[in-house]
Amino acid sequence: MSFASLGLHQDILNQVNTLGYITPTPIQLAAIPVVLMGKDVMAGAQTGTGKTAAFALPLLQRVKHNKSTNSVEGVQVLVLTPTRELAQQVHASFVKYGQGMSIHSVVAYGGASINVQLDALQQGCDVLVATPGRLLELIMKKLINVSALQTLVLDEADRMLDMGFIIDIQRILKNLPQTRQTLFFSATFNDDIFALSKTLLKEPQLIEVDSRNTTATQVEQRIYAVDKKRKSALLSFLIGSKNWQQVLIFTRTKQGADELANEMQKDGIATQSFHGDKSQGARERVLTDFKAGKVRALIATDVAARGIDIEQLQYVINHELPYNAEDYIHRIGRTGRAGTKGLAISLVTEAERYLLTDIEKLVGEQFLPQWLPGFEPDLTKTLEAPKKREPSKKELRAKALGLSASSKKKPKRKY
Ligand code: AMP
Repeated sequence: MSFASLGLHQDILNQVNTLGYITPTPIQLAAIPVVLMGKDVMAGAQTGTGKTAAFALPLLQRVKHNKSTNSVEGVQVLVLTPTRELAQQVHASFVKYGQGMSIHSVVAYGGASINVQLDALQQGCDVLVATPGRLLELIMKKLINVSALQTLVLDEADRMLDMGFIIDIQRILKNLPQTRQTLFFSATFNDDIFALSKTLLKEPQLIEVDSRNTTATQVEQRIYAVDKKRKSALLSFLIGSKNWQQVLIFTRTKQGADELANEMQKDGIATQSFHGDKSQGARERVLTDFKAGKVRALIATDVAARGIDIEQLQYVINHELPYNAEDYIHRIGRTGRAGTKGLAISLVTEAERYLLTDIEKLVGEQFLPQWLPGFEPDLTKTLEAPKKREPSKKELRAKALGLSASSKKKPKRKY
């Protein structure tokens, strides 16, 4: 199947051609015709499947048509994303796919000057990509008019709920036209996601390109059993000995990311941490350096890593397993993107085994942890017989006096 068979106009097809996309990905094949028909969509698709183009291409086509007929004024498409990085990435895709079509895409997110975003909005805005908090601010302050909205896209809806955006989303929805098309994308599904989707979608077309809650198929998953104190040495060893140049590493906490980055720097590996305590500017610089190959290892927390899109990212390492098993799917979805092969390694201590069990249940797959020679876990601790309890002072005194120190009271005789 080609892009031409999906009902896209020639100018969009030319753009796709310029970008070198030859065949549509499965989500594009399934979603583009449905979006063009104006229907609601509920799609299970993780990052890296080409889902952005799956909604951006048909929506750009509609916006272009509306503009040529002067039938709609103001914001026509609103894309909500959980993080600013993802917002920037989706906005960049709209700009890329819509080049030469005189379609204005604007991005708005918190933690950056609202004035700059307002200036951009005043130049005209057909497509707005925003994070929920900043969008709500714009709506409440009446700085934006969304009354002509045609399509709402919720991108990475599961992550938005994880990040606690539900109240913001509900408030935003109250301000949007009731008659609209809604496209709902989520990498994972649970009861909360279904509950939200029910309030938003009208007779949606359900599209699933990967079976629900499964990990990217192009990604080889490897588990190394290792002791906690040897994890960073194992990491440096892997990256150094295999000469890996671009590795994304996950930790559970911001502090953990900083500490690990320091240790790996000491091992001579150009490493930077990437998390929410860093300013937007600092995060952008780190990401640019990582993409340019100046930074070899990027250590990120789950939330911050959400918007990282690097086409050729081959290696993802879980320094710690996530508490939330669904985050595992998001993490390893950072590699093996757009059909390329990827390797996802998880370093797992004995104490983290229960987290691995949760992941195995979610993805319906059992993993066989391996030992890396030189980094084998010290099993003497786990196999050691429990130490004998030291006798208490009371017991020692009782022993010296030839008495029993048992505190158990003798049962009363029953007559
Ligand atoms: P996404 O899942 O939207 O984040 O897309 C992942 C990557 O795949 C992006 O870097 C896109 O540029 C790329 N991509 C999207 N569609 C195609 C396609 N049909 N062929 C090749 N690459 C694509």
